[in-house]
This record gives sequence, C-alpha cells and structure tokens, in this order.
Amino acid sequence: MGEAPAEDSTSPRAARLTSAVLGYRPIVPTGLPPTIRGCLFDMDGVLTRTAVVHAHAWKRMFDDFLSSRAQRSGTPFQPFEDADYQQYVDGRIRADGTRAFLASRGITIPEGEPDDPPSAETVHGLGNRKNAMVLEYIAAHGVGTYTDAVWLLREAHADGLRCAVVSASANTAQVLEVTGLADVIDARIDGVVAQQQALRGKPAPDTFCAGAAALGIEPSNAAVFEDAVSGVAAGHAGGFGLVVGVDRVGGGHGDELRRAGADVVVSDLCRLSEALPP
Ligand SMILES: [Mg+2]
Repeated sequence: MGEAPAEDSTSPRAARLTSAVLGYRPIVPTGLPPTIRGCLFDMDGVLTRTAVVHAHAWKRMFDDFLSSRAQRSGTPFQPFEDADYQQYVDGRIRADGTRAFLASRGITIPEGEPDDPPSAETVHGLGNRKNAMVLEYIAAHGVGTYTDAVWLLREAHADGLRCAVVSASANTAQVLEVTGLADVIDARIDGVVAQQQALRGKPAPDTFCAGAAALGIEPSNAAVFEDAVSGVAAGHAGGFGLVVGVDRVGGGHGDELRRAGADVVVSDLCRLSEALPP
C-alpha cells in the first residue's frame, strides 16, 4: 500500500479563479454541450482518490485467499495481477468482480449470503473481507478528492445541471459526506441501491440509466464521467449524450477507454472544453 491519497496539489486555472480572494464566479465554461442537462459521475477514480485503495484491497484479499488455497492443495501460488483488476474487478459490484475473477482461475466457491462475515470463504465473504480492508484504510487515512472533478461538479451544479453519483461502491454515502460533496449531489445510485433495486452492475447500463431517471432526464441529455473500462462500456451501451473517459493512470488506459466507447478522453476535466468539438 502506498502513501495516503493526498489532496490534489496542482490547482487548475479555473479552480484558482474561483478563489475567495476574487469573490465571484468566473466565466470558465465546463465545455458541456447545451443538450446536456445532467451529469452522472462515477466516484472512485473520478471524484475521489479511492481507486488505488480499492485496487490494493482487492489484491491483498485475493492474494491471501489464493496463497492459502495453494498451500492446502500443494499447487503453485499465482498472485492477483493488475491485469486481473482491470479485466474482472474494476468498476464492478463486489460480488460480480469476485465471481468473475474466480471464474477466470477456474475456482468455484459457494455464493453465500450478502451479510456473510469477512472470514467466510464464499463469494460474499471474500467481498466483505475486501470491503473491511477499504473501510480500515479510509478510517486511518481519510479520502482525497480530484480538484478538477470537484470543480466540474460544482460548476455544472451552479449552472443548473442536475448531478448524480453512480458508483458500485457500497460506501458511497459515507464518502460523499466525508469529502463534503453531498450538498451538490442530487441523486445517488450506489452498490446498496443497485442491490435493493436488483440493478445489473457495470458494464450493464442499468445503474447509469437509474441515475438519469432519478434526475428526471433522458440518457441522451446526460453526460457520463468514468475512469473504468466497465463504466465507459456501460455509458456507451446506455446511449448517453456524452461519455467522458477520465484517464487518471496513463500508460495506454486512455486508448482502452476509447475502445470501450468513450466519446472523449481527458486526464484533466478542467480541459474538457478544449477536448470537445466547438
Ligand atoms: Mg471508478
């Protein structure tokens, strides 16, 4: 596990202009087309610096599980890799990610129940074990945010656009409160809501469609902001007005987001207006 996710230290031009010293809202366009009436933000990796926390928790949990399984069966230990995270887990509901990765290794374990303890060797037990690691980390280190995304969210909201968070995380409500973003979020479709309403997780478009419905707008009038391939694919499948791929990691991830159906890929949301056609 690396350093605690610090607050973004680079202050984009737009964020500087909004400083209390100036005392007024500058006219810096978000770049969103006039047909867009609402924004659907993924949380981990778009608004908050929690994607790396999830990635490390998944690796710790699966490596513990795979290593003890290898010891019991006398077979070689094959660790959980970054490619496994990208392909099977990132952006998905916990149980879906757990099931998909285990299937890729030819491992079948009981499904269990959603409230299984973290010690249970079931799909839900392993998911809960990973979640306990995430909560432990957040309690110790807090949650950092991305300044560019927070700027875009607040500007869009101030412009009268409705804004929702659509995340697979079951901890979304707590994270929005901790980061002070809850006051500009009009609707929340998270892992808890998805389970209650039996919505299919990303890459299915269901949770984004539910987000648009909760805002009272059509998908064609909504913009999706996503950093995961599964989430971009969900936005593309749902026929949303604009799918923005947010590349926080580089190294070819932007190309993967484009291949999954992103209309535009940016690493800095303050520069969205430059990336979109006039
Ligand atoms: Mg994400």
